[in-house]
Amino acid sequence: MKGLQGKNVLVTGSTSGIGQAIAVRFAQEGANVAINYRSRPEDAAETHAQLHGDDPMHDYMDEMEEAGVNHIFVQGDVSVEADVVRMVQETIEKLGGLDILINNAGIQIPGNSHELSIDSFDRVLGVNLRGAYLCAREAIKHFLAHEKPGVIINVSSVHQEIPKPRFLSYSISKGGMQNMTRTLALEYAGRGIRVNGIGPGATITPINRAWVDDPVKSAMVLEHIPMQRAATSEEMAAVTAFLCSDEAAYITGQTIFVDGGLTLFADFRTAWSSE
Ligand code: NAD
Repeated sequence: MKGLQGKNVLVTGSTSGIGQAIAVRFAQEGANVAINYRSRPEDAAETHAQLHGDDPMHDYMDEMEEAGVNHIFVQGDVSVEADVVRMVQETIEKLGGLDILINNAGIQIPGNSHELSIDSFDRVLGVNLRGAYLCAREAIKHFLAHEKPGVIINVSSVHQEIPKPRFLSYSISKGGMQNMTRTLALEYAGRGIRVNGIGPGATITPINRAWVDDPVKSAMVLEHIPMQRAATSEEMAAVTAFLCSDEAAYITGQTIFVDGGLTLFADFRTAWSSE
């Protein structure tokens, strides 16, 4: 894709799922990638290995090596301000600058809204929204200081639009992310900085282990998706790469839903009123 070769990209939460696919895609496009992990790089590999009995982290690194680009690991909990400041600085120093930030790190904690502990509420908002803002703030500072264009992608969700009962903090965080995308896009459009979001629908990643491996739950999920299948992380990565490329040079402030039609109200597939 035009304009990604040689760009320096930081992808938060990129040791698994959508973030991992985005990192691989940028590497394949010839970009230099900073792979962020929260605590230990082995964490993701261990979890995957336990779940699937293989070592995707090894394959992941092979894919990055094969792409032949410069890539680094950067530790940082995105919800901790000092970590974010250090992580962005480290990325800039080691890669020689920053052109693209992908705010991908995210968590969700289920529970009845009237019973949620404030700690779990704060944790989700802390990672998904506060964390994304902190990373955006540090990236924008760098773009402005060097008077160079920059791109930020916020990995939001269909739940920035569709309410998600029992996932109140998640819904709030993604709704807030949409407003952050639009506000930052407007504030910095005149200074060459584009800010967009992707809104994934149901995507097969570790965050969805509750239903992916359960045929009954899986069927229930697919029933709500007009295209009748879940997405792959690679499909999210492709749209992310497009939005960061020069092909999307005139797009800012938008969230592109990559959801197989999930936001089209599947229950209205056939008219059930007015006739
Ligand atoms: P995932 O659990 O594989 O990825 C989440 C990543 O965030 C992990 O690598 C995790 O280590 C990292 N992370 C969590 N807390 C962090 C922190 N404090 N600091 C740094 N990293 C942290 O799940 P995923 O599905 O790949 O999720 C990626 C993004 O996509 C999330 O923002 C999620 O909300 C969004 N999303 C996913 C789906 C889906 O169906 N999978 C749908 C809509 C949106």
